[in-house]
Amino acid sequence: MARGAGMDAPTDRFGRPLRNLRVSVTDRCNLRCHYCMPEEQYVWLPREELLTFEELSGLVGIFTDLGVDKVRLTGGEPLLRRGLPLLVRMLAQNPRIRDLALTTNGVLLAGHAQALREAGLHRLNISLDTLRPDRFQHLTRKDNHAQVLEGIAAARQAGFRGLKFDTVVVRGANEEEITDILEFGKKAEAEVRFIEYMDVGGATQWSPEKVFSRAEMLEVLGRRYGRIEPVVEQGSAPAERFLLPDGTLFGIIASTTTPFCRRCDRSRLTADGIWYLCLYAQDGIDLRQPVRRGISRDQIRTTIVSAWQKRNDRGAEERRALGSRGVFVPIQQLRANPHLEMHTRGG
Ligand code: SAM
Repeated sequence: MARGAGMDAPTDRFGRPLRNLRVSVTDRCNLRCHYCMPEEQYVWLPREELLTFEELSGLVGIFTDLGVDKVRLTGGEPLLRRGLPLLVRMLAQNPRIRDLALTTNGVLLAGHAQALREAGLHRLNISLDTLRPDRFQHLTRKDNHAQVLEGIAAARQAGFRGLKFDTVVVRGANEEEITDILEFGKKAEAEVRFIEYMDVGGATQWSPEKVFSRAEMLEVLGRRYGRIEPVVEQGSAPAERFLLPDGTLFGIIASTTTPFCRRCDRSRLTADGIWYLCLYAQDGIDLRQPVRRGISRDQIRTTIVSAWQKRNDRGAEERRALGSRGVFVPIQQLRANPHLEMHTRGG
């Protein structure tokens, strides 16, 4: 067991505590980003299998009893889940959650920001891969760039502080925009986090040549801004943070070239209640059946603890160790098992 914030969390085989839970509230998305959902057709989770808000918040409560204190709502696009602020309100009442965040593509945010804030959401991450409407359309196959910008403005208006912009940097797609996005982040008082293109399930167009690495990002930014200082931090956050000479902070999530499995305390619950201990795991643990069969909280807690104590996943490091690396999950396999998709697991 690891001590932290007054709670003993179970630890896995590498001593990593169970702290950080990502909850996917839907597998549906209103964008078709080339690095995540590039296909024409998808197999969706059956609606009757999606957990209700009561089931979700009950399960989250078991996790927080065990030491989870960071919860992120994601998807798919979480704002497509009808009535989401109600779930946020339920979770915000859980005093063990120290950090309650939401990751969104921003398209529907303008209409929800105020309600999310009032419901008690602490923080927002907004995906922002380009500042150019025509490029947005090309990258997402949708024409919603203006709505994303409106969503960002509405989030600030609603009083959200500490906004983060998540930018997946893909060679040949948007790599020359990274300084513009950083400048935009400064104006919007948001911390930008550049994410390396990952070969997660669903990234069926991934190839090593398209990965614009952390080293390359730092080189481009160094040329523009001069000396970039790494910020020395303890903790499990995926982003390494850096400081520009003018005091601007930004992050890089380098899961592809510099994985951080050794510090990874994240696990993921899908909208239909399957719990994954690693983004790259082939199998998950079904928590929906026990919940729906009325199995006691104590028994579910035991299932969770014993699975976590056996955890030895190091998915991103194992991928990096491969000599030659291509698409992780072939399309036929994704169609047969949508749980292998990033948009089902929650990014
Ligand atoms: N729809 C929401 C959004 O767009 O932020 C939440 C879900 S999305 C799957 C969560 C995050 O995963 C986004 O920041 C997205 O950019 C990231 N993501 C998806 N596929 C990725 C890939 N192949 N490599 C790196 N990041 C990826």
